[in-house]
Amino acid sequence: MKIHEYQGKEILKKYGVPVPRGGVVFSVGEAVTLAKELGGVVVVKAQIHAGGRGKGGGVKLAKDLDEVKKYAGQILGMQLVTHQTGPQGQKVRKLLVEEGCAIEKEFYLGATLDRVTSCITIMASREGGTEIEEVAAKSPEKILKMAIDPLKGVDRSQAKEMGTKLGLSHDLAGKFVDFVAKLYEAYTQSDCSLAEINPLVLTKGGSLLALDAKINFDDNALFRHPEFEGLRDLDEENPAETEARQHDLSYISLDGSIGCMVNGAGLAMSTMDLIKLCGGEPANFLDVGGGADEETVKEAFKLILSDEKVRAILINIFGGIMKCDVIAQGVVAAAREMHVRVPVVVRLQGTNVDIGKKILEESGLALISEDDLAKAAEKVVQVARE
Ligand code: GDP
Ligand code: MN
Repeated sequence: MKIHEYQGKEILKKYGVPVPRGGVVFSVGEAVTLAKELGGVVVVKAQIHAGGRGKGGGVKLAKDLDEVKKYAGQILGMQLVTHQTGPQGQKVRKLLVEEGCAIEKEFYLGATLDRVTSCITIMASREGGTEIEEVAAKSPEKILKMAIDPLKGVDRSQAKEMGTKLGLSHDLAGKFVDFVAKLYEAYTQSDCSLAEINPLVLTKGGSLLALDAKINFDDNALFRHPEFEGLRDLDEENPAETEARQHDLSYISLDGSIGCMVNGAGLAMSTMDLIKLCGGEPANFLDVGGGADEETVKEAFKLILSDEKVRAILINIFGGIMKCDVIAQGVVAAAREMHVRVPVVVRLQGTNVDIGKKILEESGLALISEDDLAKAAEKVVQVARE
């Protein structure tokens, strides 16, 4: 789950990570009022769930209240296009207004789970700021990494060494160690999957400050944080994914044209692999779960059909706990109820497969039944092209 920068900064602040003073506003009037309170130069920042806002014109430094008014008016309501939003951009509905700071140097600092070492890993670079993606792509050696032992937490001497390698003086490297320790605390206590500060700045005044904050929570740990539910911004989320969550379906929307309905995440992944192997592109990842009933199958079908890019559907179900006849009934009921405008290939295997296939055959619907998964993938790619 993603959250906005202003929400991320509130969490960081709770753990003692230094962030600029500021707050979220929803109108030009509120922006001016808050800027007046803060005094001096302020930064007006678009709040959307995507990075690269600076380059897209969503971050402006305002030296007086007239400029605050001007920039807030420009940014609020704009369709902000960044390299992370796609060409359609994302509408800006709220702004973060915070005190501006004089920057001496911009660094990158991030924490994420490294699945190779099974450790939360801290990454840092002296080449922080808006060009970090390019640094990562062209000179990855400029990104320092430090794996954190989950039992010991941040090793201060190792973190100090990292600070020194970033070019910080003895004193500042000490402050950096505290900064990292607090970031790690915020990360683990909040069950994040990513906590990124880009830039972490050294101010002209000689202090370290988190100027940006990108925090993602691990969805699998959200049940431990009912307090985070209020941080969700449905305007920023894919409507189909929101709908899916309400029906306990794991659904991720993708760019391709072949809708997939599968039970089990592993089977769903291999189904997508096979589609790609046959030259097709999946339109979604969808795991209906092990205990799906007729109703769930129907909802899943509706979701897939709501995606206009879908040109064909592949249903791949292995009936283990779930019985193939129940699935077949769900598919037939859903297909009858909804206007199915694309070909549907169904591959059923497992418990009660014969009864399931009979139900499909006798339904009179134009469903294409295929026993072999590889052939089913080939078939769906072929019919999607027709
Ligand atoms: P992003 O482009 O979405 O990552 O947004 P950021 O919050 O990282 O802002 C982009 C850039 O704006 C930063 O890298 C800074 O160079 C600049 N910026 C942001 N806040 C300030 C500030 O208070 N003072 C100055 N001088 N620059 C700032
Ligand atoms: Mn940034």
